[in-house]
Amino acid sequence: MKTSQIPFRTLREAPAEAIISSHQLMMRADLIRKLGNGLYTYMPLGLRAYRKLENIIRQELDASGAMEFKPTVVVPGDIWKESGRWDTMGAQMLKAQNRQQQDMVVSPTAEEAYTAIMKQGLTSYKQLPINCYQINTKYRDEIRPRYGVMRGREFNMMDGYSLNANDESLDETYQAYAKAYLRIFKRLGLKVIPVKADTGAMGGSGSEEFMVESPVGDDTLILCECGYAANVEKASCAKDIPLDKNGNPLAATDKPFEEIKTPGVGTIADLEKFLDCSQHSLLKTLIYKATNVSLDLSGIECCKNIKTFTEGNMTFYPEVFVAVCIRGDLDVNEAKLAGLLKASEVTLATAEEDMRITGAPVGYAGPVGLNNVPVIADNSVLNMHDFLVGANKADTHLVHVEYGRDFKVWQTADVRTAKAGDKCPVCGKPFYTSRGNELGHIFKLGKKYTQSMGVTYLDVNGKSSVPTMGCYGIGVDRVLASIIESFHDEHGIIWPMSVAPYQVAIVPIKYKDSMKEAADRLYDELSKLGIEVLLDDRDERPGVKFNDMDLMGYPVRVTIGDKNLPNVEVKLRNQSDAQLVPLEEAAAKIAQTVKAALDELNA
Ligand code: ATP
Ligand code: MG
Repeated sequence: MKTSQIPFRTLREAPAEAIISSHQLMMRADLIRKLGNGLYTYMPLGLRAYRKLENIIRQELDASGAMEFKPTVVVPGDIWKESGRWDTMGAQMLKAQNRQQQDMVVSPTAEEAYTAIMKQGLTSYKQLPINCYQINTKYRDEIRPRYGVMRGREFNMMDGYSLNANDESLDETYQAYAKAYLRIFKRLGLKVIPVKADTGAMGGSGSEEFMVESPVGDDTLILCECGYAANVEKASCAKDIPLDKNGNPLAATDKPFEEIKTPGVGTIADLEKFLDCSQHSLLKTLIYKATNVSLDLSGIECCKNIKTFTEGNMTFYPEVFVAVCIRGDLDVNEAKLAGLLKASEVTLATAEEDMRITGAPVGYAGPVGLNNVPVIADNSVLNMHDFLVGANKADTHLVHVEYGRDFKVWQTADVRTAKAGDKCPVCGKPFYTSRGNELGHIFKLGKKYTQSMGVTYLDVNGKSSVPTMGCYGIGVDRVLASIIESFHDEHGIIWPMSVAPYQVAIVPIKYKDSMKEAADRLYDELSKLGIEVLLDDRDERPGVKFNDMDLMGYPVRVTIGDKNLPNVEVKLRNQSDAQLVPLEEAAAKIAQTVKAALDELNA
């Protein structure tokens, strides 16, 4: 291909809204252009890299035993109503009506579509597992699309799904995807960390995210030198013993609890000072509002009168308030709380809601006598003794409180946010943290969709059974951006050989006379050897052409100048030195270089 045939222009400056390197470089190199907020077009050069990436994903998944299929992007709203996600998916789902006023959905993900499709024709255990993936357009109405294609509104996902007869079979498929993912990222030269992830409201039995460490990552990773790795939504930590201000374990008290006046000291930090105590002897009680709760609360007295709604064969509580108690120095992890309640979202109650539920202003809530909402205690509360809690009364706290004696809770659970310095649950060493971007995800979903959408098959004994399910996703655009984020310098992109839009760029100083002859010859020879070559035939100053080729990041640049002929100058984008090579040997040598780079990535 010749540059004159490609519609592109490079930019010296990226648009001001592009603040991370990959977004800046993709815009400057004209790989993408913006059409609207969160809507990016792949220009021809960007699309070449995108397609290569897509093919690597395809090859590795095919090799792992999955098969590609291609559902539509626009799907009937009815299947979302059947699964129970029509109302609970939230505002990120783009809905529309067709001319018959039928509800339609622009797929944000495809569990429903897969389940509805694979249900057709499934009769026997002999057909399981069914493991298919697509690489297809998704739309999520992200509140804050940002970083270019890292978080777009329209984006492309590889999403695979499996129907399995039992947990062992599901685990096999799950492991096969994990292995294929590692192969894919290896071929891209990316270092990824599989981390334990939250299974959330979907309530599956296992989930891992594949993260690339990045200072501009959206996720917080909790890591330990022993190899434990989890995202902050999931990370749990080893039990620790709460200590008083002298560093001694808190001791149980026989004293009955009593009120003390704490005017205007509603925060933990203020209380710590006011009472001259350790934060470990203070209990925080927070009121949360959970939306679309699918956990069965019918056994809880104070929840008996909460209205529910039914979607498919799922029952939801549209809104439930809960109180969460946790040790004073710790924070509640909203993802864990939402997972516990099987809620689509949890948010802190407003000051008015707090007042209505506890009868006190924010900061004075406490579990003693609080019986109009379910109370959840974080595990950290179990070891606390002789502690202080809010009295559900303005300017008042209770001291000498004991868990179990003075209040009981509906549930104890891990709802704490792990942080650097907390102890690893595996080896006990302190955690450290890092930022990361989620590139892919594997998830054991269980029977949520197969059950709600009525999928059955006859098992070995001829008994009707419901298959279990897994889902597996890779954000193709986000991976492409992450490659650039990982491989660039001040001059531009440094493509790994496996995804470079072209492997070699030939830059004649001037595209005429002997330089044109040499450039054309090398172009033909390399093409015949199966190398992807771009010939810069533009009538531009050499400096302009060099800068553009560096910005666009082609792994090999060959400069052809009349001063050097019959030698040509070969320079690798990831090295600073160039090499003079006789023109007649150049094609074979360059082809060798390209092949060696690919072999190393594919090894
Ligand atoms: P995130 O937490 O980043 O929003 P997610 O948990 O919503 O991701 P999944 O539903 O697991 O993502 O989707 C699978 C993959 O799709 C993600 O691992 C990510 O790489 C990609 N992805 C998700 N949302 C976007 C987006 N808005 N733009 C680009 N890629 C995305
Ligand atoms: Mg998301």
